[in-house]
Amino acid sequence: MTQTVTVLGATGSIGRSTADLLTQHADRFRVGALVGGRDAAALAEVARALKAEFAALADPAGGPALAEALAGSGIPSGAGEGAVMEAVARDADIVVAAVSGAAGLKPTHAALRLGRTVALANKESLVCAGDAFMRDAKRYGATIWPMDSEHDALAQALHGRPLADVRTMMITASGGPFRTWTRERIAAASPTEAAAHPTWSMGMKINIDSASLMNKGLELIEAHHLFGIEPERLDVVVHPQSVIHGMVYWRDGAVTAELALPDMRVPISHCLGLGDRLEIARGRPLDLVKLGALTFEGADEDRFPCLRIARAALADGGAAPTVMNAANEIAVAAFIAGRIGFYGIADLVERAVTHFAGLHRAAPADVEEALAIDAEVRAWSAQALPELRAA
Ligand code: NDP
Ligand code: MG
Repeated sequence: MTQTVTVLGATGSIGRSTADLLTQHADRFRVGALVGGRDAAALAEVARALKAEFAALADPAGGPALAEALAGSGIPSGAGEGAVMEAVARDADIVVAAVSGAAGLKPTHAALRLGRTVALANKESLVCAGDAFMRDAKRYGATIWPMDSEHDALAQALHGRPLADVRTMMITASGGPFRTWTRERIAAASPTEAAAHPTWSMGMKINIDSASLMNKGLELIEAHHLFGIEPERLDVVVHPQSVIHGMVYWRDGAVTAELALPDMRVPISHCLGLGDRLEIARGRPLDLVKLGALTFEGADEDRFPCLRIARAALADGGAAPTVMNAANEIAVAAFIAGRIGFYGIADLVERAVTHFAGLHRAAPADVEEALAIDAEVRAWSAQALPELRAA
């Protein structure tokens, strides 16, 4: 029986890897709706290639361009929030949630409310409103398959065992492009240098987050919500080869790890297969002899202060992760635009978390509240940027 798959963020890095797998396994999957952000031509191209049932662009102004690009294909389309929600509401066995950033919260949450099986790449959903997402997944009978490679690894290692058997959960970090750089050199790094990820091929925002190790901080928060594990039992180790993605340390001293070469199609295929193992054409085999060694280092929170800030936000809980994520999105965009230096990212995020600590304490009760905090912090962060430059 074929399964219908809807992809939110179909034109992105995860979206394209997903499209590759859907094409390879066309006998198993039918493509339902595809959602993109602004790029009408790219969305139309993916929709045509996958013979999608519906295409929706979030940008309301992109409707005519999308319709024109799809002319003659017979694929209906729409633009704006209503069209995105229509895409989510269409029947689907699996919804891949791979919009980037806080923009992913609403459509991902809408899929959960419909009780869908959600393959979750959009980590911001859990960082910004983890309590509400996990509560509502349970309430509406939705299933979440973690697509982030570290969390897919943890889920495989855990293999349904209770948390009482677990001592700690460890996720790995490649260390990013600045792993061996001095603080001074990192301070002067350009966006191109920060985006040059040593092992993974990903979207721009997550590349910068990997260089600052904020991505690992976001992933600790993500793991806390996904597995219900306390912050004190979560840890990070730097592993430059990116072959081990996550490890469960059991209470008897044994450790279970998942290994794979860094290719997002591995965790994506595990999610799409709902646990079945799908063949990946052109997938590279893991040759341990050729690799020779797997190495590990501690994470340096002096050179990578974003990891320290994220750990503190996780420990503080409440609205701190929501605030941190919003400030980080503004800071990363400002860094990419050349408006602030690399350490300006951590600087802005820390200022925002400190500023809002007294204003928003409780974790957002729902997605609307999370998005309201997100908007407030973005506005504050944007006006704090010139001040930061002057500092
Ligand atoms: P990309 O930037 O490559 O792609 C983002 C996608 O989201 C694009 O399809 C984009 O469309 C779409 N989009 C942007 N804004 C909106 C919006 N407002 N409404 C609807 N769609 C929108 O990101 P990635 O694929 O790298 O990452 C996606 C998510 O997956 C992120 O949350 C990331 O943290 C997570 N993730 C990514 C990994 C990776 O390897 N890339 C690994 C693990 C997690 P358009 O192109 O038109 O703007
Ligand atoms: Mg990851």
